[in-house]
Amino acid sequence: MQERNISSNNFEQCQKCSLCETVCPVMKNNPDYAGPKRSGPDGERYRLKNGIFFDDSLKYCLNCKRCEVACPSGVRIADLIQQARIDFSHKAPKLRDIMLASTDQMGPVAGAFAPIVNFTLGLSPVKGVLDFALGIDHRRTLPKYSSETFVHWFKKNAASKQASFRKQVSYFHGCYANYNYPQLGKDFVAVMNAFGFGVQLLENERCCGVAKIANGMIPAATRDAHANMEAFRKSVAQGLDIVTVSTTCTMTLMEEYPELLKVDNSDVKDHISLVEQFLYKAIASGAVKPVWKEGWKARAAYHCPCHQERLGLGIFTVELLKMIPGMQLTELDSNCCGIAGTYGFKKENFKVSQMIGKALFDDIAAAAPEFVACECETCKWQIEMSTGVPVKNPVSILAEALDLEKTSELNRA
Ligand code: SF4
Ligand code: SF4
Repeated sequence: MQERNISSNNFEQCQKCSLCETVCPVMKNNPDYAGPKRSGPDGERYRLKNGIFFDDSLKYCLNCKRCEVACPSGVRIADLIQQARIDFSHKAPKLRDIMLASTDQMGPVAGAFAPIVNFTLGLSPVKGVLDFALGIDHRRTLPKYSSETFVHWFKKNAASKQASFRKQVSYFHGCYANYNYPQLGKDFVAVMNAFGFGVQLLENERCCGVAKIANGMIPAATRDAHANMEAFRKSVAQGLDIVTVSTTCTMTLMEEYPELLKVDNSDVKDHISLVEQFLYKAIASGAVKPVWKEGWKARAAYHCPCHQERLGLGIFTVELLKMIPGMQLTELDSNCCGIAGTYGFKKENFKVSQMIGKALFDDIAAAAPEFVACECETCKWQIEMSTGVPVKNPVSILAEALDLEKTSELNRA
């Protein structure tokens, strides 16, 4: 019998209520998937007896963790499923999966030729080749790369000013802000500086590893996790908390490192915050004060990403956005967008991915906002591609709505 290594092996708490099945977006849309109860706690009983009972259909699980949010017994259903895939699925990742998951390696190469790469990846014949040769669905809009990384911009334009701030934080920027959309990192620095926080980069930040975990690249994800933890420990030892902007990176750093990669984060976990949570607490406690732009107005709809729901952090974003005087905010119903990181890029998943997202797309169409507010970059790709409505990270919304100069003066005083 294979030895299992499940730190929260709590499947015996399952009371067979089937609530998890009612919220699983894959079970509703893919008849080949047995669902959270049978793939999670039920299957685990068999797998513990003999790995021969591992079922390859577990690959259909999005790891959205909606089942865990619904479970009244606190069973870590998605973790059971992901752990079983790690332990028993010994298929080597395909070239496509390695390319999609290796954001730290692909980012610098694609960024060096960004105009050509972005143009080429938008051409139908190229998309057809990627579909045929690699299995990246030709209907998927591929993310664009930036010619200049956030880190390069920061070192050139912002690093020298940061030491002048009395309070300091470390910023985990993640791959998306660094390689695809540095404006998000710039907005983060502008907002944090306006509230009187200097921003420091972490030493040798690596990808959080979420895409590598999803694609079976566990040794590489574990190496990244150890490197990030070392950087976090150095930051915390200097008295600096770590602030993040991406929901999924945050969940991976906080939950997946100990649960799936067995990388202990207990000494730094309480020092990691998503920026919306960090700023809401700072403003609500009176530690910092915002000055809003006069006359700024927007009609937005908030989509709470699945991993944000799992972390229980959506409330901070909603309350933060509601503080903006000109903000007219609609909270969308809780629905999965269907992309789940690299899952929705794969040809075999594209149809189910779009079927899962349909309820959310319809909800957005009905709300008819100027833009959607959302903390997750892959939700952004899915929503923009499927609805045509732009998606903005709440930090970028704050950067627009705040009078940055007056906020800065007030919080420097
Ligand atoms: S993590 Fe999501 S897709 Fe996987 S079983 Fe749970 S609800 Fe279903
Ligand atoms: S919701 Fe929890 S307790 Fe109910 S069947 Fe699913 S795993 Fe078991």
